[in-house]
Amino acid sequence: MISEIEENFYRLTLPMPFRLRHVHAYALVDGKAVVLFDTGMIMPGAFERLETDLQSIGHSVSSIRDIYLTHAHTDHCGMAGLIQEKSGARIHLTEAARDVLAHFQEGTRLIAEARRFYAKHGMSHRDVEAIVEEIEDMRTRVPHFQDTSFLSDGEVYRAGGRSFEVIFTPGHAAGHVCFFFRREGLLLAGDHILPYIAPSLSPNIYDDLFEPLPSYLESLNVIEKLPIQTVYPGHGNALTDLACRIEEIRMHHGLKKEALLKMLGAGPKTTFSVCAELIGEAAANWDDWEKFMALNETYVYLQALKSQGALRETMHENILSYSAL
Ligand SMILES: [Zn+2]
Repeated sequence: MISEIEENFYRLTLPMPFRLRHVHAYALVDGKAVVLFDTGMIMPGAFERLETDLQSIGHSVSSIRDIYLTHAHTDHCGMAGLIQEKSGARIHLTEAARDVLAHFQEGTRLIAEARRFYAKHGMSHRDVEAIVEEIEDMRTRVPHFQDTSFLSDGEVYRAGGRSFEVIFTPGHAAGHVCFFFRREGLLLAGDHILPYIAPSLSPNIYDDLFEPLPSYLESLNVIEKLPIQTVYPGHGNALTDLACRIEEIRMHHGLKKEALLKMLGAGPKTTFSVCAELIGEAAANWDDWEKFMALNETYVYLQALKSQGALRETMHENILSYSAL
């Protein structure tokens, strides 16, 4: 599905298999060329959908000249390599996003790290192997491409008679950016702001220095200061009351963190047992992917609480436990 959001500026809605069921890419027409923001995911029918949508406005995948990526998640960048093959497009992303992709492409080390990381957080062998399968599946969807240029914070690009700024917004993913069209008051938000759910947060298992929650909250402060009228997210409808949405998301994280801290009052617990307690009976209806995401997010909160000095860590036989201080 394609819809015009501004003159010569389009939103393309592409299929995706996870809970959200769709992902948006955005296309800005610049004469005979198309500039694409995010690409959608590699899955049956997605490339054909993109081609049909572009043909309906008199263009095609082969006219894509540049691809700007908000982040390295496969639903946003998965088709970048394939599109580049057909069109020779240049690909623009942050260096941190390129590093995320490189770790996935490397494979063996990532899987070894994942086994160690999730076992350390109290998961059974069966659950760790289920996660490894999810990561292996993700690896098959990671794009391979060349001719990249790295985005810098605050950099301004021009295309189709418009200009847009690169706004670094790490948190939902390392190396996440938004694209801000100042004259139009329009933000292409990727997964930094979503209308119905708080964007998920996951650790970089090979990078302890990246703290998703504080980074994410800091990135909310950054976009809060911009004169934004309309947010076009990677999933769901556009939204206009950004201040209100930011407040809701901040509150969501505050409450979640508080609830976790209360649960830990009772004694040392692993990330897995905190997560299981948090999900409760709902876990019976969840698939491995959903459990994987829930465990990641629980860890992100525990990591933030520990940085704040609210938790103590203890390691026993390679299993990490947390207790409230
Ligand atoms: Zn994402």
